[in-house]
Amino acid sequence: MYAPEFDYYRAGSVSEAAGLLRKHPGAKLLAGGQSLIPLLKLRLAAPAAVIDIGRIRDLKGITVKDGTIRIGAMTTHAELAASAELAETCPVLAQAAAGIGDPAVRNRGTIGGNVAHADPASDLPTVLVALEARLMAEGPDGKRTLDAGGFFQGLMTTALKEHEILTAIEIPAHPKGQSSAYAKFAHPASRYAVIGVAAVITASGGKCSSARVAVGGMVPRPVRASSVERALTGQELSAESIAKAAAQVTENLGNEVLGDIFASEQYRRSVASVWVKRALTQAVGRAK
Ligand SMILES: Cc1cc2nc3c(=O)[nH]c(=O)nc-3n(C[C@H](O)[C@H](O)[C@H](O)COP(=O)(O)OP(=O)(O)OC[C@H]3O[C@@H](n4cnc5c(N)ncnc54)[C@H](O)[C@@H]3O)c2cc1C
Repeated sequence: MYAPEFDYYRAGSVSEAAGLLRKHPGAKLLAGGQSLIPLLKLRLAAPAAVIDIGRIRDLKGITVKDGTIRIGAMTTHAELAASAELAETCPVLAQAAAGIGDPAVRNRGTIGGNVAHADPASDLPTVLVALEARLMAEGPDGKRTLDAGGFFQGLMTTALKEHEILTAIEIPAHPKGQSSAYAKFAHPASRYAVIGVAAVITASGGKCSSARVAVGGMVPRPVRASSVERALTGQELSAESIAKAAAQVTENLGNEVLGDIFASEQYRRSVASVWVKRALTQAVGRAK
């Protein structure tokens, strides 16, 4: 299927992109195109104008400085997956990016596009919620910083305002004793997350001093599994305590659990703890 006709603009800077967004109401930003182009071809979106932000140099790259990792919104999944710095300072993000789609999707798709699109089956929103990331946005009212926890508001809905551009993501690098991991039940064809779990664990003397766990694919937005986090904090990091804590996950899901052609609501509820256990086990292994 062909996309509907649209006017194409290429922005050379964030301010130029912001100006074009203001000038063309309803226009869409084009990052890697891995979600937007299929939407256009399926005629689920028909913007009069598309603004390509792919050549804006300021939006690319990964830097680690003073314990903070800063990732430009146009950084691709392949770049995240290949980053030695990220593997060292925040392994969960490199690991999740490496498991996205296929090489073509990873080479074109970007962290900014993935996050702004807010598909509940995407991997990176879940990871950013567990990492307590900060998202930088720029729009007509200036710049602002949003917490990942409040950014994802529902099915493909975020806290970004109209005409706002996501410019970068900031994440605290893991301090000593902390590590992280991602486990996903991947759809066998697309590799999208039917269920995805990100865990960030801090270990001290064999015990868990803090745990952050986020679950994606279960409800319309990534959620923190606070009951799992509470159950594990202060415990010895053993297979038994991990399994016991993981079993608490359904307490945080309420009555919004998704059911679709890939997995019913009941199935998702039944297997969620398995994926929480896998993510925790791997994160604990790395933290130790
Ligand atoms: C076959 C296939 C398999 C896939 N498998 C997975 C998977 O396993 N896991 C996964 O997480 N994802 C998967 N994806 C999605 C992929 O990761 C996309 O790259 C991603 O969801 C969108 O990123 P993009 O850069 O391509 O954005 P685009 O498609 O260009 O844009 C997506 C949306 O975000 C908006 N947008 C883009 N950048 C910005 C910005 N900086 N500020 C504000 N708005 C912005 C656009 O206007 C558009 O509405 C898959 C996609 C395909 C086609």
